[in-house]
Amino acid sequence: MDNENRLLDLLGIASLGTIIFLSVALISKIQKIKQLLERVNKLDTALNETDEQAKLIVRTDIELNKAQEELDKKITGLYTLHRLSREISTTLEEKQIFEKIDAASLGELGFSKALAFMRDEQERKFNALLNIGYPEEDKEAIKLFLYGEERLFLEVLSGDNTLSSITKTHDARIIEKVKAKFNCVAFVIAPILPKEGNKGFIFVGTDNADVPLTEGDEELITILASQIGQALENARLFEKTWSAQQGLENKIRERTRELSAALEEVETVNRRKTEFVSNVSHELRTPLTSIKGYASILLAGKLGEVPPEVRLRLEKINKHSDELAQFVNDLLDIARLESGRVEMKLAEENLEKIAEEVADLLSVQLKDKQLELALEIPEEARKVQADYSQIKRVLINLVNNAVKFTPAQGKIKITGQKVDNQVQVDVSDTGCGIPREAQDKIFHEFYRVDNPINQQVKGTGLGLAMVKNIIEAHKGRVWARSLPGSGTTFSFILPQ
Ligand code: ADP
Repeated sequence: MDNENRLLDLLGIASLGTIIFLSVALISKIQKIKQLLERVNKLDTALNETDEQAKLIVRTDIELNKAQEELDKKITGLYTLHRLSREISTTLEEKQIFEKIDAASLGELGFSKALAFMRDEQERKFNALLNIGYPEEDKEAIKLFLYGEERLFLEVLSGDNTLSSITKTHDARIIEKVKAKFNCVAFVIAPILPKEGNKGFIFVGTDNADVPLTEGDEELITILASQIGQALENARLFEKTWSAQQGLENKIRERTRELSAALEEVETVNRRKTEFVSNVSHELRTPLTSIKGYASILLAGKLGEVPPEVRLRLEKINKHSDELAQFVNDLLDIARLESGRVEMKLAEENLEKIAEEVADLLSVQLKDKQLELALEIPEEARKVQADYSQIKRVLINLVNNAVKFTPAQGKIKITGQKVDNQVQVDVSDTGCGIPREAQDKIFHEFYRVDNPINQQVKGTGLGLAMVKNIIEAHKGRVWARSLPGSGTTFSFILPQ
């Protein structure tokens, strides 16, 4: 019995142990399951969150793509507007400005149709300058619509206001009417307002309802219209300036024609004068030679004894005849030089030699007035291309004048200097000088300065005219510088 009880106790203890063991195991399992459940819950929440995020990402991606598309459209539109603006602003003819807008550019701006009308205020007419997408009869029908709704369109022109279905600038009834007449689903009408002259507007529209237009699209068209206005202003200004210039050019041409005719007339008169002088001189020479000849015969006593009083008069006749002959010869020479009948025999000559000969020739006159003549012609200025006798004549005239207009004991100088490839010759004196206002005139024929010295000094006023003609025939030039009271310098240039 005891053994049985003990066994039963043992069994009981064992069962209890097992129950306890199982209970402990069960509890730990339950805890694990709990933990697992918690994890599953957490995972579920995380999964939900991830799902939400994924949806968000997809949504954002779609929006981003849409934004990108819009941005691309805007960039294309801006590029097109920039290109059109550049092309329009460099066009200087009104009609060509509108020709720059073509269907492709319009498409890039988001529209498929366009019309531009300029209002001729004088004739109260709308003139179409651009038509994209409308057959001729539709355009004419739209024009009639403009006249029917003149007030509305004149208001667009005057008020700097856009008429648009995008921002719905006007009453819905008006917008629908315009849509129907222009046969489109969306449109913008923007005014073209140059500061001066005719104003107008540009209409752009689309019949594609799938591509929605934005405020940005409307703004592009407003900018385009203002660029057209600016370009029209420039073109009109150019036109004005151009026609003014044309008028001026015509006037200049007219004046030039008149001047050439006057010049031709002057040349003819001059030619006639030269011919006249030359003829008269010839005619004078013959009787002069006879007068001189008869005077010489009488003086020689070939027709009998000549009483002293008669001799004196005859000598005067002889002397005055000589002077007159000299005058006539000078006149003839000038006439010949002016008509180009005297050819310069150019050769390489020595300027110093010519100057020495002149000094020698005029030595008596120089001595009479106790005048000193100095020659300063350095080696490099001696060689000149000249007609020997003509340049000698020039120097004789200039030195002779210096002698005539320089008081006794004065100084005269002939200097030569090389200037570039030419030689400048100066003949200076310490004489009475020439007033400033006469310094150009002295080269004119017969001009003599009106002063007391000239009343005493003999002369014809032909010497310097001859000098000028000879120097110009050498392709040189002559001029005078003078300080009245101190002296004068005559200069001329000769090619080497
Ligand atoms: P002419 O000596 O016969 O009067 P020219 O043609 O040689 O004619 O000279 C014109 C005028 O120029 C002279 O009358 C004189 O008034 C002025 N003239 C010329 N050379 C000189 C000079 N060296 N000094 C002052 N006046 C001069």
